[in-house]
Amino acid sequence: MFDKILIANRSEIAVRIIKTCNRLDIGTVAVYSDEDRRSLHMQTADETVHIGGSNAQESYLNVEKIISAALSTGCQAVHPGYGFLSENAQFAKSVESAGLTFIGPPAKAIAILGDKIAGKKLAIQAGVPVIPGHTDVLKDEDEALAVANGIGYPVLLKPAAGGGGKGMRIVHDPAEMKAALAASRQETLKAFGDSRIFIERYIMQPRHVEIQILADTHGNVIHLGERECSIQRRYQKIIEESPSPAVSEELRQRMGQAACDLARKADYVNAGTVEFILDAQDDFYFIEMNTRLQVEHPVTEMVTGLDLVELQLRIAAGEQLPFNQDNVVCNGWAIEARVCAEDPALNFMPSTGMLTRYTEPRGHSIRVDSGVRIGSKVGVYYDSMLAKIICHGKDREDARTRLAGALNGYHIEGVVSNIDFTNSILCHPEFIKGKLTTNFIDQHFDNDRPKIPPDRKNMDLAALTASIIHHVRTVVIRNSLSPMVSRIGRKKADVNKHQYTIRSENEVFDVSLESTAGARLTTGGRLWTVHVGSNKYAVETPQLEFYRRRLRLTVDGRIYRFRLKFEHSFIFIAFSGITRLFEVYSPKEWKLMEYMLARTKQLANNVLICPMPGLVVGVLAKKGERVFRGQPLVILESMKMESDVASPVDGIIDEIRVNAGQAVENGDVLISFKP
Ligand code: ADP
Repeated sequence: MFDKILIANRSEIAVRIIKTCNRLDIGTVAVYSDEDRRSLHMQTADETVHIGGSNAQESYLNVEKIISAALSTGCQAVHPGYGFLSENAQFAKSVESAGLTFIGPPAKAIAILGDKIAGKKLAIQAGVPVIPGHTDVLKDEDEALAVANGIGYPVLLKPAAGGGGKGMRIVHDPAEMKAALAASRQETLKAFGDSRIFIERYIMQPRHVEIQILADTHGNVIHLGERECSIQRRYQKIIEESPSPAVSEELRQRMGQAACDLARKADYVNAGTVEFILDAQDDFYFIEMNTRLQVEHPVTEMVTGLDLVELQLRIAAGEQLPFNQDNVVCNGWAIEARVCAEDPALNFMPSTGMLTRYTEPRGHSIRVDSGVRIGSKVGVYYDSMLAKIICHGKDREDARTRLAGALNGYHIEGVVSNIDFTNSILCHPEFIKGKLTTNFIDQHFDNDRPKIPPDRKNMDLAALTASIIHHVRTVVIRNSLSPMVSRIGRKKADVNKHQYTIRSENEVFDVSLESTAGARLTTGGRLWTVHVGSNKYAVETPQLEFYRRRLRLTVDGRIYRFRLKFEHSFIFIAFSGITRLFEVYSPKEWKLMEYMLARTKQLANNVLICPMPGLVVGVLAKKGERVFRGQPLVILESMKMESDVASPVDGIIDEIRVNAGQAVENGDVLISFKP
């Protein structure tokens, strides 16, 4: 085994590789750019070497600097992580020619599989099913049209050098071909310096299922089952799981066999991933092989109990795989969510800033692979992924609820994150049923919001949380006043029962709180009986410190976590994909609010409503006239007094519905407006 290795990467994956090295007593060297001077991966390595400017071209993509850092620190091998130089055949070659070991496949395998056309041809030779299409570079539009005609629309234009979904274009009919081909060429040229495009059938409603393989230098090739990564935005994964709810044992064996066949054909060594598309008929097609460790490898680690980085190191050191296919046993289920600094409401635009709050959830079966901590800078130079959170459970539902619960307790401030968005995916009924496709987000979300209303029970829990917080905060404030005030201010009879009305967007909840007299719990908390509408909940609150922004409640024996922000009686709650403002009203306040809501509704209807019974004595405007808010429009006589009725809006009069001399009632429409 190696004594010391260099990790040619940054952030969470560098930290994760170092962890395994520490366990195996292998020394570590981290490299860093200007931007990363104080980043987490620097703190965890034994030694560090500065390799250049913040721009990746000057540092993490700088082959010479990385190799000389490895040599000058006496490393024997280089682990590339993922991204950056991990799939660069030239880099692998340079590492080897410098007398170092590349912890990954041979350069030749990287080169063939890194090219989508060459990879597809190899798959065909290995007898692996591929997506129907044309396995050559498209010459021009005419050829593209001819090939597409043969395949049948829709078709997908794909860059041969692709990665990260860049340059792919769906073409639905011949008229779109010209523009799509040009756009695809341009994007791939810019991203990869290569404009080769090929074409294949676009598979509708596909699932993304990939097989993890391991191959050693002794000719052993095995697979570790599948991961499903259908939940993607912009062709990039955000939630991954193992196993896949769509894969039967029989299908797993067939896919695993195909993946191993391809690896053998490519003379593959080390860890790799063969990606497939699975269609609704259970037919699977090869899309590409990733010749490195994947971001989502932890879900495989959690179900197999293996450490993939350790196996990569052992294979690179020439060891034989310590087990065979029959020894691979998968236990339970694991789901991963990628935590990114991005704004799902703004088409997932990356968000930069500094982490002003950062608390990871902890607990049994929760794994967080993170590259940041409080104070970390999230700049413009690198990927927006901050961390990954992975939960393991005895089955899919168990893993899912654990992950949703853990995300409720994941607190990030200072940048916009996708935590609540991923949680709303995890809590979506179609996700719960395992009905996934790569179009899941487009199909079930409008922007960052699910197209269907949130789960009733979760809304109840959020509403009762808002009431309890508001209640305890006002009680705490009241009790902190002088003893005399609190004695005067309290009525005996209703000490234990409190009514609130909670409004959130267009929904209203009636909540009653009863704190069980004398039931002080050992935790120092309190026990409550809470009614939300006709539903009853037993709620245990901890010793409440309501300046905190996280809250843990036990409801009917189960623990729930909520993230909060509050201002007076407005409480913003993030919980299981619900991210909303809740307004809390006492019965008196709610009466007033209802009245005001009714009024604004009338105003919104663009009409002038008669405010009291009386007689119209004059109309001060004409049809079609432009009027302003507050301008008197009608004179009413009532109780022997004349008063003006003013326009509620800026607008144009559409119709005058009354005449002078007419008797009118409270609520009658006097005038209507054009918007
Ligand atoms: P990249 O290397 O750019 O990530 P991939 O070939 O891995 O590109 O494809 C990325 C994603 O695009 C896949 O996970 C899948 O969702 C989708 N995709 C790729 N090829 C097809 C296809 N022929 N039909 C439908 N979807 C596809």
